[in-house]
Amino acid sequence: MYLKLFYIDGFVESMKARFLIIAFLMSITFHAQSFNIDDIGYIHPDNYDSTIGLLSTDHLWDKNIFKVCWIDKSKLPEKKMRWVREALKRSWEKYSSVRFVGWRECSSLHSDIRIKVVDERSTSYLGTAALTRDSKEYTMRLNFTYKKFAPYECEPFNKGLKFCVQGTAVHEFGHALGFAHEQHRHDTPDTCEYTDDDDWDTPFGEWDEHSVMNYCNPLRNNGGYLSATDKRMVATFYPPAKNLIMPGFNAQYYLERNPEIFELTDMNYGEAYKYWINEGIQMGQRASREFDIRFYINHYKDIKRNFGVDYKSAYWYWVNQDRKSSRIGSKEVLVSIIIITALM
Ligand SMILES: [Zn+2]
Repeated sequence: MYLKLFYIDGFVESMKARFLIIAFLMSITFHAQSFNIDDIGYIHPDNYDSTIGLLSTDHLWDKNIFKVCWIDKSKLPEKKMRWVREALKRSWEKYSSVRFVGWRECSSLHSDIRIKVVDERSTSYLGTAALTRDSKEYTMRLNFTYKKFAPYECEPFNKGLKFCVQGTAVHEFGHALGFAHEQHRHDTPDTCEYTDDDDWDTPFGEWDEHSVMNYCNPLRNNGGYLSATDKRMVATFYPPAKNLIMPGFNAQYYLERNPEIFELTDMNYGEAYKYWINEGIQMGQRASREFDIRFYINHYKDIKRNFGVDYKSAYWYWVNQDRKSSRIGSKEVLVSIIIITALM
């Protein structure tokens, strides 16, 4: 491997400076065309135009660390509290920068999510709507027993109480993050009988039968495991803090535009890079604003002559030679250079 792996936190300074200038210029110059400054890893939900699920953009948080507490914690069984935390770790937390912290007794100290455990219907305030709630009141109800309330909801699956408690927790914490019921979408098929229209505003892409947020999922709350589209949704709106940036490759850029690779690599950035190098680049796939193999090949006659359709070799040539010279790898970079030159 003759490339150095580096993450955005330990970004090479000159690269960083270059990206920031480009990102800044693009943000002011192309605002009307909705350019995102996603090369530095930020996407505003309003500018994101595809994918899945259903959410309330008014209720998304602008943070990713949430303090959680239990009401009357000392009376609650340790084991079941652990089930909840395990389920969140393998779902929302695994595929995003979301972290649920604290988990102490609710007290006068502020917590974002305050859980009351009771044998009733489980509920949660939708995202930031929890802020309207008195700080002494619960914002979420979870059921640890299912004896009085809806035992029939769990029994048909014959998977035991853990299955039900964990699935419900993942579903309710989805609401706490601002995600609404999938079956509230207007394009919900007639076969799904829970169609009502409240508190939703933004459907994304295809209706997702397997979402943890879908009452019509054949498996209750998808067993507490995120569907492929749930993973993409949470990763989009609460993006993982670290991004893998390589020459010509930005993991977030690549995965957001290629859902099938997101799924294939289970959002593992290193795997996504390997896939791009071994398969994607040869298919002409683009993985950053900085580099577009088709532009590069067509822009320079000598590159086209020397490499033809051997995109992978052309990419390595760009990495090792042209990238360090004044030769450019994409139309966007070309435009930025023209603007910088014009400003000087
Ligand atoms: Zn719900």
